[in-house]
Amino acid sequence: MNKIEVAFRKLEENYAEFVIEGITPAIANAIRRTAISDVPTLAIDEVAIVENSTVFFDEIIAHRLGLIPLKVDTETYDVLLECYEEGKRDDCVAMLTLEVEAEKPGTAYSGHLKFAGFIGEFARLASAEVKPVSDLVPIVKLAAGQKLVLEAYAKVGVGREHAKWQPVSIAAYKYYPEIRIIKRECGEEGKKCADACPKGILKWSNGRLDLIPEKVEECTMCRACEEACPEVIKVSWDDSKFIFRVEGLGVIPVAKVIETALKRLIKRADSFVETLEKSIQTRS
Ligand code: SF4
Repeated sequence: MNKIEVAFRKLEENYAEFVIEGITPAIANAIRRTAISDVPTLAIDEVAIVENSTVFFDEIIAHRLGLIPLKVDTETYDVLLECYEEGKRDDCVAMLTLEVEAEKPGTAYSGHLKFAGFIGEFARLASAEVKPVSDLVPIVKLAAGQKLVLEAYAKVGVGREHAKWQPVSIAAYKYYPEIRIIKRECGEEGKKCADACPKGILKWSNGRLDLIPEKVEECTMCRACEEACPEVIKVSWDDSKFIFRVEGLGVIPVAKVIETALKRLIKRADSFVETLEKSIQTRS
């Protein structure tokens, strides 16, 4: 089996950029898809409208509430994951309330949602809190005298059921570029090549063409350089090495999303092997 190597280029709370080497395109795609659609998060799934005199129907307000990303701390997240994996999603619920009455025209924002406590298994996390990632997501505009009062129940789910449970806005990868300069001393020809590159990855001086190594990962493989001087440069890619970019929505740190995606992928593979072994045993 190939040795797998991972090197992070950037790792921030909500953004990660890393290179994985030693995997196949199928595994790279499985990591990407798992991060988007199989990492559980919390999202509002049920709403009890107590009073609504705004211009929006109850259903539209409930739908908009579902799309507000909710932030949880890492300890709460681990319980949430446990609840999901044990199939207890209806027993792990966070309750939020909202009460807005407009004296003058205004807007009900996500910041008006107040955390009211946990229900079920979550109740053991008495000190934890669930809140919107941003307080500035508009829910509905209110005219003077209009009122909105509701209770919202956030449950755990995954992105493949509904995009509101996605923990990331982007999880994408590209093949690692391989740029080969065939003829370094190429005279004026090399200048055309360097000028054609929109990313400034190639440098030409005194008739010599060179790569700027620290910029190679920015190559989009557009092949404009190859078209400008096909005798001088060849662009291809390494299909066992990938550059990943993952952008989180702020619900959990992006490092936790990647870790959870990998663990869930491994669990699925283990469960597949186990099922296969059992099925072989029963046939023999
Ligand atoms: S393939 Fe495109 S981005 Fe890459 S080096 Fe050539 S011109 Fe630049």
